[in-house]
Amino acid sequence: MTASTGQIIRSHGRRFIVEADGQIFDCTTRGKRVDYACGDIVDILIQNREQAVVERAHERRSLLYRQDDWKAKKIAANVTRILFVIAAVPTPNEELLGRCLIAAEAGDIDPIIVVNKSDLPETAALLGKLQLYVNLGYKLVTLSAKQDFSPLKPLLSGHTSVLVGQSGMGKSTLTNALLPEANARIGDISEALDSGRHTTTHAALYHLDENSHLIDSPGLQEFGLKHLKSPDLIHYFPEMRRYIGQCRFHNCSHCVEPNCAIITAAEQGAISKHRLDLLQRLSRELG
Ligand code: GDP
Ligand code: ZN
Repeated sequence: MTASTGQIIRSHGRRFIVEADGQIFDCTTRGKRVDYACGDIVDILIQNREQAVVERAHERRSLLYRQDDWKAKKIAANVTRILFVIAAVPTPNEELLGRCLIAAEAGDIDPIIVVNKSDLPETAALLGKLQLYVNLGYKLVTLSAKQDFSPLKPLLSGHTSVLVGQSGMGKSTLTNALLPEANARIGDISEALDSGRHTTTHAALYHLDENSHLIDSPGLQEFGLKHLKSPDLIHYFPEMRRYIGQCRFHNCSHCVEPNCAIITAAEQGAISKHRLDLLQRLSRELG
């Protein structure tokens, strides 16, 4: 058996597709614990032309978790850019955006707010609402996936990106526009792998060019935050970092305590009520 190093380009529960030396391997893992995610760089032991065993993952640049699970399951590794897709129609859920930005900050990943469906007249009002996030320093790009998705291209260059957002915002439209060829190619892999089996694809990595990749996880609405610790939360709110260490209690939850620097700042208008509410909800969730 030969050892090699490759990247996980698809994850199906306990099975993974690894691309190594320009070849594709259908991989199982050792032991019961499945500790890998799409995007992971892994050492494999090649068994034959099609099969290999994943031995271990290399240290990750970043790691994102799935939201819909009672335990924190990994969904994507080594992502360097999160694209949060939002549009004026259907009615956007701002909570999802807030949570996505927290996941990005916690993972030290560069987020971009992609306002899709710019052809709709309601977009102006949405952009007004999103000014809060632009003021916090987040990048925002406006486009119409149906008419011209090219503003997105330079933002993906040199990155491993992932698209996330509420259903109906245009993620699949954007993904299909970005990946016409890759789609066909991965389709073949899928057919070979899925024949006769019931497998769910959790995530797939596509190459946009040699240095730019897109991890697609169909239906990905939000990332899991359960791995975060409540006292760390204010580190992930850029406008709150300056108050670190200023609350009366060092373990302040910023929910009910007296002399809380965050609550005071919100009362004085330096922090939006909306963002304080999100902090408090997350703080209670994480306990
Ligand atoms: P997803 O659920 O986020 O994957 O969203 P889809 O890509 O399935 O798109 C949801 C709906 O929005 C579809 O009917 C698309 O045709 C439509 N849509 C996507 N992009 C645009 C756009 O730029 N403008 C308009 N008007 N509709 C769009
Ligand atoms: Zn406080």
